[in-house]
Amino acid sequence: MTDLGLYIHIPFCRSRCDYCGFYSIGRQPDDRFVAALRKEMEMRSPAFAERTCDTLYLGGGTPSSLTEDQLERVMEGARQYFHISDTAEITMEMNPCDMTESYLENAKALGINRISIGVQSHDDRLLRAIGRLHSASDAEKAVKRAYKAGFHNMSIDLMYELPGQTVEDFRKSLLWAVHLPITHVSVYSLILEEGTRFKQLADRGALPRPTENDSWLMYRDMCRILPHYGFERYEISSFARKGFRSRHNRKYWELKDYLGLGPAAASRIGRQRFEVNPGVRLYEKELLTGNPPPMEVENLSEKDEMEEYCFLHLRMKEGIPLDDFARRYGEDIRYWYGDKITMLEKQHLLKEENRRLFFTFHGAALGNYVFEQFLRDE
Ligand code: SF4
Repeated sequence: MTDLGLYIHIPFCRSRCDYCGFYSIGRQPDDRFVAALRKEMEMRSPAFAERTCDTLYLGGGTPSSLTEDQLERVMEGARQYFHISDTAEITMEMNPCDMTESYLENAKALGINRISIGVQSHDDRLLRAIGRLHSASDAEKAVKRAYKAGFHNMSIDLMYELPGQTVEDFRKSLLWAVHLPITHVSVYSLILEEGTRFKQLADRGALPRPTENDSWLMYRDMCRILPHYGFERYEISSFARKGFRSRHNRKYWELKDYLGLGPAAASRIGRQRFEVNPGVRLYEKELLTGNPPPMEVENLSEKDEMEEYCFLHLRMKEGIPLDDFARRYGEDIRYWYGDKITMLEKQHLLKEENRRLFFTFHGAALGNYVFEQFLRDE
């Protein structure tokens, strides 16, 4: 049996960021939630008794909204009900405002060895405009405090194409980030998600958007500046120093098994996808009365899985391993996508080398267009 990735979703945030489409609610997690989460661990873990978790990821929402004591109970539960490998990568997303010396020391003592921080920008004006509660200086101090506390594997998130952000603003954020004691940067362009304040503003034409040329310049700066300072682009939005690629995220991109616990958490086990229903109240009620959490289950067809295999592998620098594809689906990839691949190669968006098919620089910039070509007609 291969190793398992374990994901724990903590769907609470102090306030709502204007761009965020994730499920989260605006209050602190309470002990009732932690008790329900531990109950879910107890109920779902027997099916994975033979598996070892080599990655554990606490995501959200804001996992650092858990108190020190609550975090201890969550980690204790994970270790009690699952086999967590001694060498597991254990990541926790943290908000700079929560990263006090005491919080960091407690997290370290609990075995957390990687932190991911939603920094987003080096510009306080932009941070306020997108609804973040921290300043750039809070973020910088938090990263340095964590480094001092012994966290030498840290990732930060940055955003571009923010309303009112100039090419120069984004360049400054990149140049600031590369001098922080971090090992990984994830960079996202602003996506206007349904149900967010930004989407509503954009629909009314009241959200300033960058020009196409500025978007391109920001993208190009990201692809030049981060590698220049030693952060290799190994996935479409992810850059890492050597030896510091995210092991957990790789499970998603390689279609490996992962189990998600907590409201709105998704899992993938073989060809089945599960998603716990998002409502926290219902989640707590069901689990604390001895019932499993309400969940949607989807059985992926071979076609769905093949499409996903292509999208997700193309996200990675190494692209689609063609021999693995042929072993998995019984035919060479060109049997299914021959015309499309030839067209994308002619457009210089895809390239094949050493039995791998991957994005060119321009292909990665036009990712969605390329991904669409891998949707198969019925
Ligand atoms: S971006 Fe993060 S902190 Fe902001 S609302 Fe979404 S999950 Fe919460």
